[in-house]
Amino acid sequence: MKVLVINCGSSSLKYQLFDMESETVLAKGMVEKIGLAQSLLSHSVAGKEKYEEETPVKNHNQALSLVLRALLHEEHGAIGALSEIDAVGHRAIHGASTFTGSVIIIKEVLDTMKDLIALAPLHNPPAILGVEACLENMPGMPMVGVFDTSFYQTLPQKTYMYGLPYEYYEKYSMRRYGFHGTSHRFVSRRVTELLGPGKKVITCHLGSGASITAIDDGRAVDTSMGFTPLQGLLMGTRCGDIDPAIVGILMEKENLTPAQVSDVMNKKSGLLGLSGVSSDFRYVEEAALAGNQRAALAIEVFYQSILRYIGSYIAELGGLDALVFTAGIGENSVSAREYLCRKLAYLGIELDEAANSLRGKEAEISKAGSKVRVFVIPTNEELMIARDTRDVLLGRL
Ligand code: AMP
Repeated sequence: MKVLVINCGSSSLKYQLFDMESETVLAKGMVEKIGLAQSLLSHSVAGKEKYEEETPVKNHNQALSLVLRALLHEEHGAIGALSEIDAVGHRAIHGASTFTGSVIIIKEVLDTMKDLIALAPLHNPPAILGVEACLENMPGMPMVGVFDTSFYQTLPQKTYMYGLPYEYYEKYSMRRYGFHGTSHRFVSRRVTELLGPGKKVITCHLGSGASITAIDDGRAVDTSMGFTPLQGLLMGTRCGDIDPAIVGILMEKENLTPAQVSDVMNKKSGLLGLSGVSSDFRYVEEAALAGNQRAALAIEVFYQSILRYIGSYIAELGGLDALVFTAGIGENSVSAREYLCRKLAYLGIELDEAANSLRGKEAEISKAGSKVRVFVIPTNEELMIARDTRDVLLGRL
């Protein structure tokens, strides 16, 4: 079975074509700068030279048609005919309380995705454009929607409710939803493969967006992101948890509109806002090592937010069997993992320094006999979407 995975942003379309028997990537790439004068397709096929094309691409529909042409191309293509693709899996972002798992996209599902735009005004519209582009370019192709939020539909109500008047939950569906669910689910499944079922696990997705999830026997019981991806850890440009009173005070003092204050908290805060150097962890770390005090502070605040969540999730889970690091910082930063594991030594975590010196590879980084086992597990959201697409089609999900 071949599955094409599509992940759309407002001006980009990323894709990966999987052979599901071997779970290998046959082709992958992206169209960037959709809607601008010159867009760029970069396309790679296993064993072939990378292909790039600069051409105007007005919308996601045209972007997908460019991708399909590349996939079918005599020289740089990966398939002989579109009929070789069995299904398309879409990163469908926000499924609210409606979608508790991945689903075949029929008209009613697409309509519901449109109804949910109010909850994810930035992220759901591009996902919908991706679905519509497939309907146009590949009529009759089975499609599956994989929602970032569905992994968190197992959260108990006491965990997902905010202490606001109940009417806002009823009127605006205001509750914690959680995001990055596809990534946390992927690494959590891998932990179950490694350790067996019934384990208490905390997964740390530390990338430019960052979140932590508490998982009991494969089911999410709490997560750091909330009604939007702004809540939780300090991130590259997002502030994470702050006193909510600050929002109104900032609007008053800085004369900001709701949209402007949201822009400050989403795009100008976090590592970038605190350090004044960059949103990219590597550059902030470099600056800190060179003596920049604010960069050092930004990293300390980031680590502190992680420790705070890990500690509270251990209390919620009533113990911990495994701690997992994933995403850009989690997979690559030897120093971040070392700092966090040393702070958690009281749990009986014994770090294996040689194993921790690896980057970007799956590894157990705790010593044999460590009371809590610690893993680096590279995330693969596209593969998770492809697996779900296969499983939904085969009626396994
Ligand atoms: P992601 O959003 O998962 O792509 O992660 C991006 C983040 O990972 C950025 O903050 C990068 O600085 C960070 N990152 C990537 N490679 C490294 C590395 N070798 N060491 C530390 N951080 C890294």
